[in-house]
Amino acid sequence: MNRIEQINYKEIKRISPSQFFSMKNCSYKSVLNEAFDKQPLLPISANAYFGTVLHKMLELILKGSVRNEGDFNKMFDEQIKSVEDKLQMQGFEFFIPLQKNIKDFGIKKVLLKKHLRSLPEQSPKISDGKYQAEKWFESKDKLIAGKIDMLIEFGQDAEIIDFKTGTVTQDVLDDSGEIFSDVKEEYKEQLKLYACLYFENTGRFPTSLRLIDLAKQKFIISFSPSECNFLFEEAKRLLQSTNENINKRTFVANPTEANCKYCLYRPACSYYLKLIETDYSFNDVSGSIKKLVKYENGHVSVFLQNGEKLFTVNNLPSEKYEELNDNRSKKISIYNLRKEATEFVYSATKTTMIYA
Ligand code: SF4
Repeated sequence: MNRIEQINYKEIKRISPSQFFSMKNCSYKSVLNEAFDKQPLLPISANAYFGTVLHKMLELILKGSVRNEGDFNKMFDEQIKSVEDKLQMQGFEFFIPLQKNIKDFGIKKVLLKKHLRSLPEQSPKISDGKYQAEKWFESKDKLIAGKIDMLIEFGQDAEIIDFKTGTVTQDVLDDSGEIFSDVKEEYKEQLKLYACLYFENTGRFPTSLRLIDLAKQKFIISFSPSECNFLFEEAKRLLQSTNENINKRTFVANPTEANCKYCLYRPACSYYLKLIETDYSFNDVSGSIKKLVKYENGHVSVFLQNGEKLFTVNNLPSEKYEELNDNRSKKISIYNLRKEATEFVYSATKTTMIYA
């Protein structure tokens, strides 16, 4: 059974543009991320692991390390193997082979392949420019830093490009209540922070900011220097106040469905554990082990008491029986369950994890 011993809080040295949005929504998530040395306490989805392969491949294509189909196939297999080896080490072997656990694995691979030799057409205006992939920038005070996927410079013009392997847009409501599709706010803010990092290092703002998705769709992000500067200062203030809270041990958490649903530090978050005592919309449960049943087929059911509520968790593997038995009457939390049609009844999935 997994356990959270003492949480070793540490100051956060710097904030990255890709982390800013999440930190703004719940700074405690960043605090836990730092405290656990950026090691998640729960498995991410198979898609997210595959996303790291896609992004790495894009990086290699941009750097010119992957130039043809032969290179591509060899490197792709190597990247998949490397991620699968890591999954094995972390005990997340249920995602292996990734190919079997990813929807549209083949389509995504084909789309990725289309990025080969595609750079010159990406920006006709600056097609003769200097290309720099994975370019690291940090602010003068070192409080904000991050890697820009692709920087293209031509004379005084510069374009910052970020690649996204997932969905770039979301539906939003305009003032008249009409729904339209727009680039996610977190991506806009990320690119505007890159623009400021670029300014701090070169003395000028980039000419354009662009997102490119797996299907090579391009999304221009409009910006003004003043809004970029505003976000830059906001990010620094957020980092400073978060560190002050770490030193004082007075944390600011924002437990909501949107923030917590995919937070990988839920097992260590007392605010979240408090929330699920009364909010049953999540796929996690917490309570004292009231009863344990092992069936002939080897499956185990555990009954957890939480206040007035009794949760049933079915289909746990037989090897969990002993450790659950050793923890009778003690409080445990079970994550990544599937809700059954009957209220307060859940089933274990292959990503289910138990924390004492
Ligand atoms: S579980 Fe929710 S409240 Fe807790 S750190 Fe994660 S996002 Fe924040």
